[in-house]
Amino acid sequence: MLDVLPQMPEDSILGLSSACRSDPSPNKIDLTVGIYMNEEGVCPVFDAVRLAQQSLVAEETTKAYMAPAGDAAFNQGLQRLVLGSGSAALADARVSSIQTPGGCGALRIGAEIINAAAPGARVWVSDPTWPVHIPLLGSVGLRFETYRYYEPVSHGVNFDGMVEDLGRAGRGDVVLLHGCCHNPCGADLTLEQWSVIADMAERQGFMPFVDIAYQGLGDGLEQDVAGLRLLVERLPEVIIAASCSKNMGLYRERTGAALFVSSSAENARALLSQAQVAARRIYSMPPAHGALLAGRVLADAELKTNWEDELQAMCWRINGLRTSLVSKLEQNTDRDFGFIEREKGMFSFLGLTRAEAIALREKHSIYMLESSRINVAGVNGANIDYLAEAVGAVLRG
Ligand code: PMP
Repeated sequence: MLDVLPQMPEDSILGLSSACRSDPSPNKIDLTVGIYMNEEGVCPVFDAVRLAQQSLVAEETTKAYMAPAGDAAFNQGLQRLVLGSGSAALADARVSSIQTPGGCGALRIGAEIINAAAPGARVWVSDPTWPVHIPLLGSVGLRFETYRYYEPVSHGVNFDGMVEDLGRAGRGDVVLLHGCCHNPCGADLTLEQWSVIADMAERQGFMPFVDIAYQGLGDGLEQDVAGLRLLVERLPEVIIAASCSKNMGLYRERTGAALFVSSSAENARALLSQAQVAARRIYSMPPAHGALLAGRVLADAELKTNWEDELQAMCWRINGLRTSLVSKLEQNTDRDFGFIEREKGMFSFLGLTRAEAIALREKHSIYMLESSRINVAGVNGANIDYLAEAVGAVLRG
């Protein structure tokens, strides 16, 4: 029976990263996969997470299942982190959340809830968006419409195009927004632009679904959720998919949450019960380890400060790399790369053609996506000159 199934092609991003690992060149650079890497090219464990882990391992008395909604300290800590401790929606108990296996699990549970409320609803996604959004939401039965977002010539957001396209979104539609650090393009909305989207949602009745996978890696923990919080203040319903993969370095522990901001406390409770039933259909209970660690970090003032400081240092390093990359690239080419400094988070398109991205890989062992999306955190003091010189060489042809 099973032999009818053909071999599937390798995931394009993971395939490039594994090709880089087997490349013998001593100069090779992996700018493909979205993980934070430090100056030594290592994806580190946060100090606060390591400390929380030591106490958890010493104190843990059971491996019995988690509650279906996950760890209470984690859910409470994450709600405050994302929405702010002064959030009116939190004070009114209009928010519920379920711990999920990573941000992917949160996106999936969010999609299940949307589809339960409005089967086959239309979800508007940015052009481009993170490619995994499509199978994650689409396999539930949701349908897609695209709104214009990144403009390759100006290397920025085509906000007029976005507004024009979203002008066609109405009641019963969902608009998927990247909370910060847009993946793949790094171009984010300004607060004024978030406000325009909130106006449109109020007027037209569509519901925002905000994917926040990089809080703290753009400008800072508070700044990166200012747009999202504005939506929550103004609108009766918002779904949020949050991830602790990047900002707590918990990637493999699969730690995230789906948050439901609703029009009443009663409906928030109903949505949580629906989310638990949806999770039961797919994987039953969430994994424990990562959320127990994150819950401890968020609940302990000393660990939290330690974590915030380390995260802020990562954020500054990425922004410093963006500045250095612009000046090194401009020393080696006659192009304006200033847009890299205006973009946020781990990703930017370099604005190269597919052929140029392939030439960088084949001639210089520099691995980036063929769209020329790079993981800025893969750049470091030891490889930045080689990278900029190679881009210069490829652009000269
Ligand atoms: N959304 C976006 C835009 C992402 O880039 C990622 C991670 N690459 C996620 C969600 C989910 O990440 P995870 O499931 O690892 O938490």
